[in-house]
Amino acid sequence: MRVGRQLPASVRDVPGAGGVRESNAAAVLAAARTDGPLSRAEIARLTGLSMPTVSRQVATLTDLDLLREAPENATGGGIGRPTVPVRLNDDVIAACGVHIGIVTTTYGLTNLSGELLGSERIPTPKGSAAEVLRAIGDEVSTFLAEWPQRRIIGVGLAIGGQVDAERGLLEHEPLDWHGVPAKALLEEVTGLPVHLDGHVPAMATAELLFGVSGRASSSLYFYAREMVGVAIAVDGVLHRGPGQSGSIAHLPIGSDVECDCGRTGCLEATVADRSVVERARRAGVIAGSELSDVVEAAQTDPKAADILAERARALGRAIARTRDLVNPDLVVLGGQAITEAPEYLDTVLDEFAANTVLPGKDLVVMTQFGRNVQAMAACTGLLTQLYDHPLSMLGADSLRD
Ligand SMILES: [Zn+2]
Repeated sequence: MRVGRQLPASVRDVPGAGGVRESNAAAVLAAARTDGPLSRAEIARLTGLSMPTVSRQVATLTDLDLLREAPENATGGGIGRPTVPVRLNDDVIAACGVHIGIVTTTYGLTNLSGELLGSERIPTPKGSAAEVLRAIGDEVSTFLAEWPQRRIIGVGLAIGGQVDAERGLLEHEPLDWHGVPAKALLEEVTGLPVHLDGHVPAMATAELLFGVSGRASSSLYFYAREMVGVAIAVDGVLHRGPGQSGSIAHLPIGSDVECDCGRTGCLEATVADRSVVERARRAGVIAGSELSDVVEAAQTDPKAADILAERARALGRAIARTRDLVNPDLVVLGGQAITEAPEYLDTVLDEFAANTVLPGKDLVVMTQFGRNVQAMAACTGLLTQLYDHPLSMLGADSLRD
């Protein structure tokens, strides 16, 4: 069953838009998400809303299958009815997410709590942007057909490059996509509303919602795989800038790797998986074309181990430099360049500690999403919209006040 619908343009991406009812509903939902199961009285205390307002919102959100009663968590005194708390309803609504990478495309489905119900990976199809998006849309539709019991609210599309979320357009230099109407194309194939977001902002949002950085007063998210990127959040709010992501792709990192930009020693050209694989092939230490080939060769071949250690040191220096620039309370590392080479994590952290000039070196943590980071991020972009605008997202504008 699919009931996803287009969010009115006036509501999209405007925090607090949609009126008082919408923001009250969002506040009740947020309390249940972060602290549930909760009684209505506890929700009133946490949100500052009146009991009648909380009761109305709980009823509406329960009608929408966003909340459910949790008799299993009921507490009862000796007299009167036991208090039945409410919690997120994880059994009905689901959000799909698609991450298009340069080499690999990942898609998955999460429930409201951000638990990944399933995910799949395919090589990113070849062809024009329209052909690639159509092929991916077909794969995603087949995948979603396996979940007939779920109400799928839409598709979060997370991708590198520069994203114009308002107009649904995409600029992606490595894929050679320019002005691609990615949102409209994927909506046409899947028949679901699509929320487009940059992949690094989406990953940082996933950390804020479901990871460790939600409780930090400021955090820096650092990502590396085929692309590199950072995102900054303060007081739980992601900094988005004027419609585009910042970039650390060409941060000078002191390596001797040549970059397409004409300079030498840029971060992305040095640490990207495909760049590491290319160097290993040229050095004659692998015959294959996968990063896992390099990791495997490194167990016995010191030359392969050197290539991975050099990348780990470049990452450590880049993390130190961005940390010193931003001065966050917490640094979260994500992306397979870091999570799929755990033997080199100590090298990353040692190089970070040797290069950061600020006091305190134990503020770096790993993402808890591991290799699911891309799928989680794509799903979360959509869930964030739902949490912020639950009534308009689910077409409940005309439900009871
Ligand atoms: Zn460069």
